[in-house]
Amino acid sequence: MRKLVVLVTGTALMAGALSLLAQAASPDAHMKGAFRRPIQNGWTYVHLEGSPFNLGFQHGYLLAQEIEDAEKVVVLEQTHGGRHDWSFFREAAKNVMWPHIEAQYREELQGIVAGLRAKGSKLDVWDIVALNAFCEWEYYVKEYDRWHGDSTAAKLAVPEHCSAFVATGSYTKDGKVIIAHNDWTSYLEGPRWTMIFDIAPSNGLRILMDGFPGAIHSADDFGINSAGIMITETTISHFSGYDTKGIPEFVRARKAMQYSSSIDDFARIMEEGNNGGYANTWLVADRKTNEIASLELGLKNVTLLRKSDGYFVGSNFPANPKLVKEETDFNVKDKSESANARHIRWDQLMAQYKGKIDVAAAQSFLADHYDTYEKKEDPDERTLCGHVDLSPRGSPPWQPPYGAAGAVQNKVADATMAEHMSFCAAAGHACGLNFKAEDYLRERLGFSWEKPLLRDMDAFPWTTFSIAPAAMKSALQNDDSVHGFGDGR
Ligand SMILES: [Zn+2]
Repeated sequence: MRKLVVLVTGTALMAGALSLLAQAASPDAHMKGAFRRPIQNGWTYVHLEGSPFNLGFQHGYLLAQEIEDAEKVVVLEQTHGGRHDWSFFREAAKNVMWPHIEAQYREELQGIVAGLRAKGSKLDVWDIVALNAFCEWEYYVKEYDRWHGDSTAAKLAVPEHCSAFVATGSYTKDGKVIIAHNDWTSYLEGPRWTMIFDIAPSNGLRILMDGFPGAIHSADDFGINSAGIMITETTISHFSGYDTKGIPEFVRARKAMQYSSSIDDFARIMEEGNNGGYANTWLVADRKTNEIASLELGLKNVTLLRKSDGYFVGSNFPANPKLVKEETDFNVKDKSESANARHIRWDQLMAQYKGKIDVAAAQSFLADHYDTYEKKEDPDERTLCGHVDLSPRGSPPWQPPYGAAGAVQNKVADATMAEHMSFCAAAGHACGLNFKAEDYLRERLGFSWEKPLLRDMDAFPWTTFSIAPAAMKSALQNDDSVHGFGDGR
């Protein structure tokens, strides 16, 4: 495990950044072993390998178009409403985040920029750092505005992402661990959150994770590594708190995926330098020991629970009463609240399927439309397969009535899949309902600001992704025969 680098001065950092960019004269020098596959059922599989800089370069080079497009979405979402313009986020990326990013990830971020430049993009490293922090900006802005006396800041909503569970022992069909997650985002982001990153870093563990173009972490955080650690999370609703002296969440999340060989490793890496950004309840499984864990990672209150038999579920509800009181304004008693309604549904399904939970069952849970508050099937903001766009209530304070948001993609891995470095994934809603941008914008007023970038989000079948045998061979043997890039294969 690398130690955090000692911080050096801004001038030295910039000199370092420039020298790394200057290194990238010829794409060939950085692309060894990297490739992308043609889109398969909505997903783009990308294999990256080598040094931190080369991982970044390959990422930027292979996904240049997707990153340019994703950056536009992040800029639109962050600047919508006019509170802060993009230069505010670029400045914060440079002054607040960059000083707390360790060398290997700085190099990877700079590599992304170099790869983009080789494809003609004009995005710079502050754009890419700001893009990487897209899940934690709301947390920063909420505190920034509070520090600057903006009384509306307290009303600012942090996002409420995702439904997830992890189970083991007597709850699963094979007695081994299983993990599942669906990502809840805006539908602006959703159809873009369809990368599968297969990363073979020169340091640390092999990673297979889903992701967003340009982000070095998974961001919705579903992944497995070659040490048998399986990771996901759901955010903590109504959370406040951000420490500008901490390490950005996107760095800790990526590092935990890359360097955790145990649940203890995972908890330690996530807690070290915790900045409170994108505060999540993390669900983790270790397929080697059959143990599962829940890490509720507040800024002030951190709770690690572990089980060798049982389950943990995630639907954005905070659990530790002290955290609820000190770090959120969440009402744990309101059963009409999405997080609470889905928590009840998860407990129902876990009891109903005890001893029978397998991949097929997990897939059905992620497509579930039972609203426990209404006590009927009704796809909305309270169902595990989230459809905020169908709800007259929206999902306050995160989304207005009929806001275009909800579940956007799904992943499941059991112990056998994880052992073979694979998981299954379904792009779009797991229930099969398609989202059509044109119909939505015609029917729902007030969302025209999304029009330039809002896309259809069709539902695709479950598809299994595994690390490529050829790429694995390359990673193990440094085989030149799999060299090739820019073309799908
Ligand atoms: Zn659905």
